[in-house]
Amino acid sequence: MKTDIKSLTFEQLNKELSELSLPSFRTGQIFKWLHENGCSDFSEMTNLSKNLRNVLSEKYYISDCSIENKFISEIDDTVKYLFRLNDGEYIESVVMKYKYGYTICVSSQVGCKMGCTFCASTLAGFCRNLTSGEIESQIHSAQKDLNIRISHIVMMGIGEPLDNFDNVLTFLKNVNDSKGLNISMRNVTISTCGIVPKIYELMERNLQITLTISLHAPNDKIRSKTMPVNNKYNMDKLIEACREYGRRTGRRVSFEYTLIKGVNDSEKDALELSQKLKGMLCHVNLIPVNDVKERNNERSSQPDIFKFQNVLKRNGINATIRRTLGSDINASCGQLRRLKKRGDLCEDCCQNR
Ligand code: SAH
Repeated sequence: MKTDIKSLTFEQLNKELSELSLPSFRTGQIFKWLHENGCSDFSEMTNLSKNLRNVLSEKYYISDCSIENKFISEIDDTVKYLFRLNDGEYIESVVMKYKYGYTICVSSQVGCKMGCTFCASTLAGFCRNLTSGEIESQIHSAQKDLNIRISHIVMMGIGEPLDNFDNVLTFLKNVNDSKGLNISMRNVTISTCGIVPKIYELMERNLQITLTISLHAPNDKIRSKTMPVNNKYNMDKLIEACREYGRRTGRRVSFEYTLIKGVNDSEKDALELSQKLKGMLCHVNLIPVNDVKERNNERSSQPDIFKFQNVLKRNGINATIRRTLGSDINASCGQLRRLKKRGDLCEDCCQNR
């Protein structure tokens, strides 16, 4: 079995290469090819001898994402990729352009175990964790394809990042490495449905990333109906972990709140949410639910969304309404993988350019 060389940290790579009796400057060269240049084949490493490239390719492989489909939004130039992994599995990533630069939304797993009732990622089931190299390859492939430099990462694609904790941490270390993509931790957001013990573990690392919680409900009754994870870690435990996270890291925690008509969008719900979050340094992102065919969730009306936001604001909770990017290209994650698996991904679903 070959090892994924892109999933090694600099120190691990250095150790492995020294065991192959290579001088230490080779580690820097190879790390740069893998992480700064995003090489997907040893033959691209032109400052290594052919012999050395052969030695490496006998022991290692390089994880890669090849572009299976690509969709460009006609509305806002958001680009969505369906990537094919080395073993033939599919994942999705989205590249969005903001004033401050390009942001990529990456997947952390093939499928998801969490079972949230509004989400498409979980519909096709869970298959496996992504390696750290595969998470990073989404950035390399998109950068090369669009000829851009990506400055911000959100882990809001397919999968639950805290359910793939070790690989996600290695990924963060490698993208942050100045010899690699050199992306600041402050430009990275990790989104979780609320795996409380892992939030505490993440806290211990004291990283400067932004932690976002997919909350989507003001109380346990509503949350447990839509998010099974709430049966294991209830809202009190989750919010206490977030308060502690803010205290320990000095970072403001964000909450994602998807508004679903008649489910979680009343002014009473907004008031209850304000009380739960009272006194916490936080931010609430209100998101009109994206329609997922099998799910039958209706978007809240615009006036209801504003009413909800106003209740939060009046109660001292910072809240913004998320601009929906790429709405014409199924940009919310999970939808393409599912269509592909069913053999339903066709020109009619989105305009494939
Ligand atoms: N598992 C992690 C990472 C996925 S992030 C998490 O739950 O946070 C994807 C985000 O999109 C989450 O906030 C998720 O709850 C939200 N989401 C999923 N389906 C959606 C839909 N149909 N409409 C709007 N947001 C949705």
